[in-house]
Amino acid sequence: KLSHRLGTIAELVQSGARVADIGSDHALLPVYLVSTGKCPTAVAGELNQGPFEAARKQVREAGLSQKVDVRKGNGLAVVTPGETDTITIAGMGGHLIASILEEGRVAGKLEHVSELVLQPNVGEDAVRHWLTEHGWSLMEERILEEDGKIYEVLRAIRSEEAALHNNELYQPSRLPVQSNSEVSISSEEAVELLYRFGPYLLVEPTDVFYLKWDSELRKMDRICGQMEQSGAEEAITRAKQFRHEMAQIEEVL
Ligand code: SAM
Repeated sequence: KLSHRLGTIAELVQSGARVADIGSDHALLPVYLVSTGKCPTAVAGELNQGPFEAARKQVREAGLSQKVDVRKGNGLAVVTPGETDTITIAGMGGHLIASILEEGRVAGKLEHVSELVLQPNVGEDAVRHWLTEHGWSLMEERILEEDGKIYEVLRAIRSEEAALHNNELYQPSRLPVQSNSEVSISSEEAVELLYRFGPYLLVEPTDVFYLKWDSELRKMDRICGQMEQSGAEEAITRAKQFRHEMAQIEEVL
């Protein structure tokens, strides 16, 4: 049985998709997708020797060596264009995920890919920005808690209407703010907040969503306190910006 986090990613993958899981570690996700019959075949890509061997072992023990191909390599280099419909990348920072996608895009590895399911551990906004900038429509977002950690999962599809769709999704007017608010939020800042919170997660917030942002605010408050205490001019200026961001986040929640 998969963990709640990996199970949520598996749920968002379309049935019948030929999937490539990049940074697969133990290949738990591709083994699950193929052994349950949700996906006919899969590629498990791994950069590092240890996890690569763990993935091979897992696949062999599941008796799936014919259907799950474990490959060693950097990011999307392991994918042959045309052989995969869906790419999953999970458990890494958002900036790393975006850079793997960008390198793959430049190398033509995404040309026949129709769906991306991504689970950044931090820096979710970097992933959302990359999607918008490269013609992907964000279709679905999930937020979940597992072992005291909170994770977001994003599903995007390639679409002709991506620009239009994302334009609507990240409209400043979708940001829920009180009309009598004392905190000023420019439209650029409103768009950035939507990228940060997640346009679906923000509009239909769950308990876990509030839990995440309460804890983020506490973290930011701690960091601000340290910066202010340091007394350095630069740190104090930075802390001021931070406090302004925090006020905006509080306003929206
Ligand atoms: N995807 C799995 C999950 O969500 O449970 C494993 C996540 S694990 C924290 C990240 C894995 O990505 C590690 O096994 C690491 O070796 C691998 N990795 C990191 N950078 C990579 C890259 N550029 N290409 C392929 N794999 C990479």
